[in-house]
Amino acid sequence: MTLRIAIIHNNEEKSLTVYSHLLSLLEENKDLVVVEQNPELVITIGGDGTLLSAFHRYNHKLDEVRFLGVHTGHLGFYTDWRDYELEEMVNSLCSDRDKSVSYPLLDVVIKFEDGRQKHFLAMNESSVRKGSSTMVADVYIKDELFERFRGDGLSISTPTGSTAYNKSVGGAVVHPSINALQLAEIASLNNRVFRTLGSPSIIGPREWIEIFLNTEGKHMVTIDQLDVSGGGIQSIQYKIAKERIHFASYKHMHFWHRVKDAFIRED
Ligand code: NAD
Repeated sequence: MTLRIAIIHNNEEKSLTVYSHLLSLLEENKDLVVVEQNPELVITIGGDGTLLSAFHRYNHKLDEVRFLGVHTGHLGFYTDWRDYELEEMVNSLCSDRDKSVSYPLLDVVIKFEDGRQKHFLAMNESSVRKGSSTMVADVYIKDELFERFRGDGLSISTPTGSTAYNKSVGGAVVHPSINALQLAEIASLNNRVFRTLGSPSIIGPREWIEIFLNTEGKHMVTIDQLDVSGGGIQSIQYKIAKERIHFASYKHMHFWHRVKDAFIRED
């Protein structure tokens, strides 16, 4: 049975070299077919950013597609295979073709004052900020007012995204087997007048967060690498998506080993 494979790469010289080597290896195997439309497996060549772009390109078919990342720079969080392991990787595509591991995603609904709604899926996080002026927002958890936030903004991340922007703003690193969302503050104002929790919060699968924006004008809203900033946003609702991202688990690395490798080890 054939396996339909799409390849997404960045334009760095090393990635282009790996791309042509991978193409020639795939062409040698009649069961592996390279396609652009309706793939069953998406192989990315580059870094975490390349995998994120591929996710957004194919996120309307998440129940049919598995992802696999080849990294051509530093070890990434979504990229398991190294460029010199291509032959082993291609061989494993045939033997382990049905194995996969899946991770939670963030479901984002942006609600506008005129009644419009926009729906997105995020793999790392969504952040909302207010540029130069203080952002004022009411944070509801499960339809109950939790706090009035004042500060630079808020970040809501998935477990796999917890090591990305979330970590830079002081959020906790969360093991990807945990089905949860994380709300992290970005420079909150805390003094005798204004008060927020002041620490990251982990939200469970039966809960949701809605952030009502109380400041007028344009807000900066991100969904992973996408900028969906705009005016007239009334609220943004976040919950764990019913869809999950599936990775071909041809090569699985211990999560905490990866965290150590990325943030602690000095080689
Ligand atoms: P990029 O290529 O500049 O990526 C920024 C860095 O984030 C890269 O080193 C990448 O490897 C790393 N990264 C991405 N996802 C990660 C993850 N899940 N765990 C650990 N590291 C991860 O930018 P891009 O390609 O546009 O990627 C967008 C992502 O970059 C965003 O989703 C955000 O999480 C992250 N980012 C982080 C910061 C920050 O930490 N201050 C700032 C901007 C963007």
